[in-house]
Amino acid sequence: MVVNQQREIVVIGAGAVGVACALWLRRRGHDVLLVDRGEIGGATSFGNAATIADHACTPVAQPKIWSDMPGLLFGVDSPLSVRWSRIGQFGSWLAAFLGQCNQRAFLANTAALGGLLREAHDGYAPLLEDNPAAARLIRRNGCLYTYRTQASFERAAADIELRRELGIRQDMLSAAEVAQLEPAMEGRAARGVLFPSATHLIDPQDFVKTLALPLLAEQRYIRMDIAKLSTDASGISLRSSNGDGLRADRVVIAGGAWSANLAAQMGDRIRLGAERGYHVEFQLEAPLFSRPTCVVESGFYMTPLRDLRLRAAGTVELSGWTTPLNGARTAFIERSLRRNIGLKAPVSSSWLGIRPTMPDYLPVIGPSSADKRVIYAFGHQHLGMTLAGTTGELVARLVAGETPDVLRSVSVQRFR
Ligand SMILES: Cc1cc2nc3c(=O)[nH]c(=O)nc-3n(C[C@H](O)[C@H](O)[C@H](O)COP(=O)(O)OP(=O)(O)OC[C@H]3O[C@@H](n4cnc5c(N)ncnc54)[C@H](O)[C@@H]3O)c2cc1C
Repeated sequence: MVVNQQREIVVIGAGAVGVACALWLRRRGHDVLLVDRGEIGGATSFGNAATIADHACTPVAQPKIWSDMPGLLFGVDSPLSVRWSRIGQFGSWLAAFLGQCNQRAFLANTAALGGLLREAHDGYAPLLEDNPAAARLIRRNGCLYTYRTQASFERAAADIELRRELGIRQDMLSAAEVAQLEPAMEGRAARGVLFPSATHLIDPQDFVKTLALPLLAEQRYIRMDIAKLSTDASGISLRSSNGDGLRADRVVIAGGAWSANLAAQMGDRIRLGAERGYHVEFQLEAPLFSRPTCVVESGFYMTPLRDLRLRAAGTVELSGWTTPLNGARTAFIERSLRRNIGLKAPVSSSWLGIRPTMPDYLPVIGPSSADKRVIYAFGHQHLGMTLAGTTGELVARLVAGETPDVLRSVSVQRFR
C-alpha cells in the first residue's frame, strides 16, 4: 500500500518518547502523524522497570567506574556483562563512555540530568489530565533503594549528597524502616533510601498505548518503517523500504535505540550505544512489594505490576545490537531473587531490551545540525519512561520557536 500522505509534523517512533512528543504537539494544535514500524510501545518501552525515577540523576558514566571496574568485569554476580567478541559493535561507544568517567564531566552531566528530571512529572501532567485511563496505570508510592551492608550504603554517600544538592527528596531508612515499608526485605537490608516523589507504572506498554488512544481515535498513527529521509526547500520526504512515502513540514526523530541511522541521513554522526538490559517476570499468588525496590548491589529493580506480576528489570550488557537474549543474564536475575528474597514463584517471561544511550548519559533533544525542521528526541538511556513527558513538552516548545535553556546541554551540537 502506498501511504503518500502530507502532514505538518511526522513523529518517527511510537515508544514512550515519540507518543509523548506527538501528544504534546497535538495539544498545541499541530497536525501530527505518529509512525512506527511496529506496535505502539512494543520496543524498549515494553519491558523496562516501569519507574518514573525523578531521583535518578547520577549517570552510569562516573569516576568510580575505574575503581569498580575489576568487580564489574570479573565479579561472579556482576550487574555488568561484556561480550568482548562483539567489541566491533560497541568499542567506539565504550571509549567515549570512558572519556566521560571523570569528575568534571560527571558533575556537569548530573546537573543537566537533574534539570530535566525536575520536570519529569510536570511533563506528563497535562497529558494525564486529558487521559484519566492512563493516569490510573500510575502508582504513587515512591521507589526504594536498599543496601545489603552499612559499608555499601556508605559508598553511596557521594551520590546521596549530589541528590541533596539538586533538591531531590530522599529519606534515609534504617533496616527496621525498610522492613516496615517492604516486609519482603526484612533481614535482607542494612539501610535504605526512599524516594517519595518517584512513581511507577503498573504496565509500561499499556501505559504508552493508553496515552496514545487520542492519536488513534483521530487516525494519527500508521505502521511504516522509515528507511529514507530527505529535505528540500518545501518540506521533508520520508520513504519506507517498500516505496511508501510521506511528506511533512517537520519531522521528529524519536526512534529510540534505532535513531542514529536516521540522524546520519541528516549529516549527524551520533554515537548512540545499545545498552542492553533484561527483565524476568514472576507470577505471584499474593502481592510481595508495594513499590519498585532496588537492591543496589544487584543493579535491578523488583517492580510490582498489575495482575500479581513481579518484574525484576535492569542490569547492563554490552554486546552490540544483534546478539540474541543471553540466558546467563536472565539466570543471574532469577538466581538473585531466589537468594535475595527467597522467591519461590515461577518465572512467567524473560525479555531483552535495548536502551538508547549516549556516552554522557544525556539524551539528544533539539534540531539537527543541518536543518532545524528535523528535531531529535532520543537517547534517554535508563530514563525514557521518566523523561518522555518533559521531552514532548520541550519538542513542542521548540516547534513554537522557543529555545528553553535546558536544551543547551542536550543539543546535538555538544559533540562538535
Ligand atoms: C531493563 C530496562 C529497564 C529500564 N527501566 C526503566 C525505568 O524503570 N524507568 C525509565 O524511565 N526507563 C527505563 N528504561 C529505559 C526506557 O525503557 C527507555 O529509555 C525508553 O523505553 C526509550 O523510549 P523511546 O520511545 O525512546 O524508545 P522505544 O520505546 O524503543 O521506541 C522507539 C520506537 O521507534 C520505532 N522506530 C525506530 N526506528 C524506526 C524507523 N526507522 N521507522 C519506524 N519506526 C522506527 C521502534 O519500532 C520503536 O517502537 C529501562 C530500559 C531497560 C532495557
